[in-house]
Amino acid sequence: MNVPDAAAPLHAYLFADPAAHSLSPRMHAAAFRAAGLGGIYEARQVPAADLRAALASLRAPGVLGANLSLPHKEAALPLLDDLSAAARAIGAVNTVVHRDGQLWGDNTDAPGLRHALDDLGYPWEQGANVVVVGAGGAARAAVYTALILGEQNVYVVNRTLERAQAIEQNWANPDADFQVVAAPAADVPWADISLVINASSAGLDAPDQTPLDAAFLARLPAHALVYDMVYKPRDTRLMRDARAQGLKAENGLGMLAHQARLAFAQWTGVAVPPEVFLGALNSADEGPGGAGARP
Ligand code: NAP
Repeated sequence: MNVPDAAAPLHAYLFADPAAHSLSPRMHAAAFRAAGLGGIYEARQVPAADLRAALASLRAPGVLGANLSLPHKEAALPLLDDLSAAARAIGAVNTVVHRDGQLWGDNTDAPGLRHALDDLGYPWEQGANVVVVGAGGAARAAVYTALILGEQNVYVVNRTLERAQAIEQNWANPDADFQVVAAPAADVPWADISLVINASSAGLDAPDQTPLDAAFLARLPAHALVYDMVYKPRDTRLMRDARAQGLKAENGLGMLAHQARLAFAQWTGVAVPPEVFLGALNSADEGPGGAGARP
């Protein structure tokens, strides 16, 4: 349990730029209530130049830690005292934990995605093939998740192929029984794919935008699952196109809830049920600060 006995109220933060419309305060306020802890979670707009000072402020007594969102997830790595294996492998931190003056960086996006897919009944199995769309921090977390859960080949499809190739190079290992392949969408063996994860920002705040032509979705097998990390709008164009092909498709709210749940557990040692976080998201209204807001 990381909860100090000190009289100072417990604090956790979101550092992001922009931060105003984050859903995280809503989720963590609900979690503090459910845990019976009088904690305060505050979203702070932190420009890139102020990240070092913002992180240093986390070493104060009573501060549990912080979530990091754009543009800080990668920049924070060299500013922390230690990193989890996941954060190191992914190269991105979304959760900073303060323990006795030390700052530890973790990545709960990766297990958050795993739990969201578990909830949907996705059968992780050796030998399955996965497509990850995007090549930013979320995509790297998705590639890591697929690899540690035994998927055989991960195809990384990105608007800028060079960024996908950098991910391929990061995982290049001639002795491994898996492969990460940067590929244009046209080169993906769609008929052999069991999971498509959109980890790009395409579709975010853009109901008619999709990162994948519907013609590629039409080549997927009937059992394939399409998971869109985007959750604003809740029904993205990608999801609609996938459903039109008879495929199962889901938005990123489950991942958002699970990454928050796992961060809260790291900070407090308290396992608040996922329903508390999902409930906070589902009760959110559309509009500023509502369901369409950023993590
Ligand atoms: P990022 O580092 O900024 O990467 C954005 C990626 O999206 C890049 O690969 C970029 O391609 C691609 N992209 C942007 N606009 C595009 C478009 N119009 N068409 C095709 N590709 C486009 O962002 P990130 O941190 O990885 O996050 C990516 C997405 O995941 C965001 O929507 C974020 O909200 C979401 N996310 C959701 C959760 C969750 O819990 N549900 C957690 C983390 C992230 P280029 O390389 O060509 O620029």
